[in-house]
Amino acid sequence: MTTTAPTTTGTNETQFDRARRVIPGGVNSPVRAYRSVGGAPRFLTSARGAYVTDVEGREYVDLVASWGPAILGHAHPEVVRAVTDAAARGLSFGATTPAETELAETVVERLSVAIPRGDVRDDPRGDALGSGVPQRLGLVDELRLVSTGTEATMTAIRLARGFTGRPLLIKFAGHYHGHSDGLLAEAGSGVATLALPASAGVPEPIAAQTLVLPYNDLDAVRTAFEAHSGEIAAVIVEAAAANMGVVAPLPGFNRGLTELAHEHGALLILDEVLTGFRVSARGFWGLDALQTPGGAVDYLPDLTAFGKVIGGGMPLAAIGGRREVMEYLAPVGPVYQAGTLSGNPLSVAAGLATLRLADATVYDRLDQASETLQREVSAALTREGVAHSIQRAGNLFSVLFAERPAVDYADVQAQDSFRFGPFFHAMLDAGVALPPSVFEAWFVTAAHDDEALGRIIEALPAAARAAGAA
Ligand code: PMP
Repeated sequence: MTTTAPTTTGTNETQFDRARRVIPGGVNSPVRAYRSVGGAPRFLTSARGAYVTDVEGREYVDLVASWGPAILGHAHPEVVRAVTDAAARGLSFGATTPAETELAETVVERLSVAIPRGDVRDDPRGDALGSGVPQRLGLVDELRLVSTGTEATMTAIRLARGFTGRPLLIKFAGHYHGHSDGLLAEAGSGVATLALPASAGVPEPIAAQTLVLPYNDLDAVRTAFEAHSGEIAAVIVEAAAANMGVVAPLPGFNRGLTELAHEHGALLILDEVLTGFRVSARGFWGLDALQTPGGAVDYLPDLTAFGKVIGGGMPLAAIGGRREVMEYLAPVGPVYQAGTLSGNPLSVAAGLATLRLADATVYDRLDQASETLQREVSAALTREGVAHSIQRAGNLFSVLFAERPAVDYADVQAQDSFRFGPFFHAMLDAGVALPPSVFEAWFVTAAHDDEALGRIIEALPAAARAAGAA
């Protein structure tokens, strides 16, 4: 009998050698290669709760959580059951299913709020002020499912261009929205200058459709809108930046951005791929725009991109937004988008089960685990005299090796990044798997119980010493 089980022998080193012969760099996504921390990446064979196990049989407390999706912990039994039940009914139909409607309804409902009369400060629908006030107002009226965050943002941008009839896009330095050509762009010489390719293979004319601005700088956005009047289709922004380490928006930044976009006839695309359903039941928008429960809605983006948690660890992402814009998508409207595996039944089952289980208790647990770790990491580094700042956005956090908190990409780049490699390896040696780059957020899960947190806390003094000695 032949077996399709992967070969789980050897060491991480021998696995890496083997992988590099047949996979570029041995990995299917660059950060997994441990380039910035050195050494062989851990080849994982299983994951459960707060722990992952490598090919050598070593267990680690995991702070990667599959880069975000695993908010309930790995292999939650109810999510696994939902997926295996779905699998038994068929892996993929390439046809509509009741479950995908149920997922869309779940998301629409979860992101809608009761609002008092007329209490939306920036309402693109223009119907929340005055007499026709809706009782409930949603971030998302309709949702289109795709398979990756990259597709979600790529589609949101095409949709914004189709809707506005304009070509240009504003993004922020250090923000990541996936790897579509126009988003792999880096700043030109000035704020109003069109961007340059940030990767080989991106044609200059495509990068030149993007303006890359410093984060948390509304003046730069204003200047760009004035310099390219009538040409900018959309501003895309991570709800809170978390791909350069965590850098939260300054108070009022996302609202100001939405207002500027709307003043200039452009759309605001909020990228909640990483933050959505993780930092709160309603993502970062829920923390940022809904300060008072039942109170004012501070801003309403036109389109929002989701990924990660929405698929519970399976490939699933989505674009949501107001109906008028969403209905520009094919087959209703003229903007084309499609996907063979879009709305895949296994992914939808995992997403539905995850969202169903992600209740207030889960978010409380995430917040508590995150706060404990923030406090303990900071205390350990302080004891060793290591200059640092804990960067946070809800329960997402990262450690910046600099005294002063970062507000933009230039600040993040100026930190003592050389301290991270030794810190990372000391944690790994002690059985804690951090994201292998200083530019990544740390992800807790609801399965990070006292025992898991205790193991992390025990590992911190040696890691802080290693960072200090670097
Ligand atoms: N947007 C954000 C904010 C992300 O963090 C990511 C992935 N880390 C993406 C988009 C792209 O998602 P994916 O990797 O699923 O293509």
